[in-house]
Amino acid sequence: MPSQFEAERQIVEIGRRVWERGYVAANDGNLSIRIDLDRIVVTPTGRSKGFLKADDLVVVNLKGQKLAGRLEPTSELAMHLFAYNSRSDIGSVVHAHPPKATGFAVAGVALAQCILPEVILSLGGVPIAEYATPSTPEVPRSISGFIGTYSAMLLKNHGVLTLGKDIYQAYYRMETVEHFAAVSLTALQLGGASPLSKANIEDLIRVRDKLGIAGPVDICYDCGACTPSDGEAGSGTQRASEQPAGTPAAAEQDTDQLVQAVLEEVRRRTTKQA
Ligand SMILES: [Zn+2]
Repeated sequence: MPSQFEAERQIVEIGRRVWERGYVAANDGNLSIRIDLDRIVVTPTGRSKGFLKADDLVVVNLKGQKLAGRLEPTSELAMHLFAYNSRSDIGSVVHAHPPKATGFAVAGVALAQCILPEVILSLGGVPIAEYATPSTPEVPRSISGFIGTYSAMLLKNHGVLTLGKDIYQAYYRMETVEHFAAVSLTALQLGGASPLSKANIEDLIRVRDKLGIAGPVDICYDCGACTPSDGEAGSGTQRASEQPAGTPAAAEQDTDQLVQAVLEEVRRRTTKQA
């Protein structure tokens, strides 16, 4: 775990990157780093992440009591504490509102197709947590079903939360989620993404296992390969494949299957006649 001094330096640096990439507007977003078993350094409320100084940051314990700093901690402190208290492997929490991924969160569309190898390798899946009023205890409750197994999640009508062993991993996961959203959006505009094949996904899962990447691979509606065996995902986890029907991807899949069935029937009849 980094020293308080090093953690402050890292938060200032990553805060500037999050702001420069347009992942936050005005005073949005919050970042934190664990510095020992019971203390974290966290961003203050009401400050742009693009212009932080080390002495703007606040040190709190895992009960949320302020130990150092002249400013007050982020209003989303409870979400950060919940992550650290739930997972001892987590060294950093990043929350932002990157516009494309947040668009998926607002539309209620999970990032739920096996289309990008790097997403399958690094994140497994990106579930969508039910809407919760920001800064209330509803937020930890809304993510409680996912936090044990996922390291990136969409917060409905709000933004994105990523976790990592350090702030760089948590930040890169934020980049991966936003990149995944940008690619998915472009593919949707071009008529829909073509998912990787079942064999491709199985190969990737083998690579993941070999690399020792933990966490579920449970992403999509239709590849059939990424769904974990029973009990692998945490209980209470809302699987991407259980998203309500009627979302664009689900509707698209239904249409695809229908078209496929019709084509096959036509082909069968024409071969008979020939
Ligand atoms: Zn937020």
